[in-house]
Order: sequence, then structure tokens, then C-alpha cells
Amino acid sequence: MPKILVTRRVIEDGINLLLSKGYDVEINPHNRPLTREELLEKIKDKDAVITQLVDRVDKEFFEAGKNVKIVANYAVGYDNIDLEEATKRGIYITNTPNVLNNATAELAWTLLFSVARKVIVADRFMRTGQYKGWDPLLFLGKEITGKTLGVIGMGRIGFTFAKMSKGFNMRVLYYDLYRNETAEKEIPAEFVDLDTLLKESDFISIHVPLTSQTRHLISEKELKLMKKSAILINTSRGPVVDEKALVKALKEGWIYGAGLDVYEREPEFEPELSQLENVVMLPHIGSATEEARRGMSILCAENIIDFFEGRIPRTLVNKEVLNKR
Ligand code: NAD
Repeated sequence: MPKILVTRRVIEDGINLLLSKGYDVEINPHNRPLTREELLEKIKDKDAVITQLVDRVDKEFFEAGKNVKIVANYAVGYDNIDLEEATKRGIYITNTPNVLNNATAELAWTLLFSVARKVIVADRFMRTGQYKGWDPLLFLGKEITGKTLGVIGMGRIGFTFAKMSKGFNMRVLYYDLYRNETAEKEIPAEFVDLDTLLKESDFISIHVPLTSQTRHLISEKELKLMKKSAILINTSRGPVVDEKALVKALKEGWIYGAGLDVYEREPEFEPELSQLENVVMLPHIGSATEEARRGMSILCAENIIDFFEGRIPRTLVNKEVLNKR
């Protein structure tokens, strides 16, 4: 029976599925990621691994886990994995698309509302006993209805996020490597270049994967193109935004505010961010709903079962690996 390592405790539905097939499942017992040494040791005798985005899956990983045939990443992003190396070695890599679209898109909206209406600072104001009665100028924020929304990366999550704007009667602009005709028809969204999106949007939300092309896609130049009244939301990956430049933009008023779920060097972040009132910071919880995490857990297990039962894993990332068979 295949031996599976699960590098961090997850919602048990997927684990139960693997156990119901009689697979031998080992779960990291700690409430923390495995150290590199622990991970490399534990994968030695495993056939499959369910990894987290903090686990680096690279040449060293594959060298240590000589029997590993499939890595099911518990995330839709797979910037923690050296895909080329995996494909070269004939190792299957899967991810968890779609099941987390609503959760992540909803979190992007949560951040957008929180920044626009100063929800977090207002809450802190209440808790610290500063509320002395209704005040006509207290915590004035920005209205969302009727404004222009800019979506960077009109993929699965970007589209889900953009669709949710319908009730707010917004003009929707998007920038992507490819046209998304469904988004253009259904939302309807307008395809524009990045500079136009930055200049014309009131709210900008980033939904691209982290790649060599998207690293620092938003840096000083891009932040300076944005409206002074604009809000930037990032629920994609931290390094897509130059965090030092963002701090400068927030401090010097190049933009109105930002909502962040991800950071350049997690769990670290630019210390000055925590001093700024116009930023809302969350600890990478984009997919953290019971529904999404259950879906991710099941999908990881299904991919592994597909593989060991001789089917193509349903959300295989490196399809080129099939040519290696
Ligand atoms: P997707 O592949 O469906 O969509 C990504 C879109 O970005 C695609 O349309 C693609 O064409 C576009 N894109 C890629 N490179 C680009 C570039 N250089 N310039 C412009 N557009 C580019 O992916 P998805 O399922 O929507 O997920 C998007 C990302 O969100 C993931 O890769 C992941 O990093 C992140 N994510 C974060 C969380 C979280 O917890 N905060 C949760 C889920 C996903």
C-alpha cells in the first residue's frame, strides 16, 4: 500500500479518504511546519507527499525522497515547487484549484471593505474606550458603489472576485497575459494594459501567480501611477508587490491604503507596515474557510488516489510529465 506523508495537519476529510483505501498515512504530529531536516528524513520511505506552501519542493527534496512519485500541494499556487525538476524526474505535481475561489475572492473583498471603511482602526477605537458619541467627521471612508475596479490576473480567483462586484455597479478593468472572453461578456470586464488599469482604477486587486515575470510586478513606478485615492489589495503572493516601495507609498500618500494577506518574506514583513493606519494586514488566510480547506483536503487525496489507481490526477499541474511514461 502506498505510504503517504502529510507535512501539516489538515481538515481530516481527505485523510479519511486515503485511510479508507488502506493507504499508510503519516501526519506531522506537531502544530508547526516540519523542519527541513525532519521533512527530508520523513520522505525517505514515502510514495506520495501532501505538501504546504511553506515546504520547499526542489532537487534536494527529490533526492531525499527517492520513492516519491506524486506531490499533492495543499494550495493552488505552486511557487514553492521546482516544476521543471519534478517533470525531469517523472514526478507528478498537483494543486487545489477552484475549491478556494470563493474563499479567496471573499477575503479580497473583506480587505477592500476594511481599508475603505477603516474597519480595523474603528474597532480598535471602540475597544480602547475612545468613542464619546456620534461625530459627523468620524472615520470618513470611501464608497465602493459605482467606482472602477481593477483586477490584475483574470484567472479563476480574479474572475470570481470580479463577478462579486455586480451588486456594486462598478466599471471593471482587467489586465492579464490573456484575454478572458467569459469575463468580458459576463461581468462585463474591459481588457486594458497595466498602466491604464493602474491610472484609472479606484480599487486594485491582485490575483496573478508568483512567477519570475510577476515578481515585483507592482513596484515604485506602478504605485506612482495609481490614483492618490486608490486602494491596493494583495491576496496573491507577497513578492508580487515590492513591500519596501509599498511602505513608502502608504507613508507618503501616493495611494490611500492597502489590504494585505501575503508578504514578501513570510512570516516576516516590513516592520513599518504595522505602524501605518492605512493598511490592513492578515496572516495569509485567503483560503481559510471550512468549505475551502475541506475541498483542498479532499482534492489532494483524490489526486493521490487517481495516481495510484492508474488515472491521470484530476488537477495535475505538470502535464508534460505524462510524456515521461
Ligand atoms: P489562475 O491560474 O486561475 O489565474 C491566474 C491568472 O494570472 C491567469 O489568468 C494568468 O493568465 C494570469 N497571469 C499569470 N502571469 C501573469 C502575468 N505575468 N501578467 C498578467 N497576468 C498573469 O490562478 P488562481 O487559481 O486564480 O490563483 C491565483 C493565485 O492566487 C495563486 O497562484 C496563488 O498564488 C494565489 N492564492 C492565494 C491564496 C491566499 O491564501 N492568499 C489563496 C489562493 C490562491
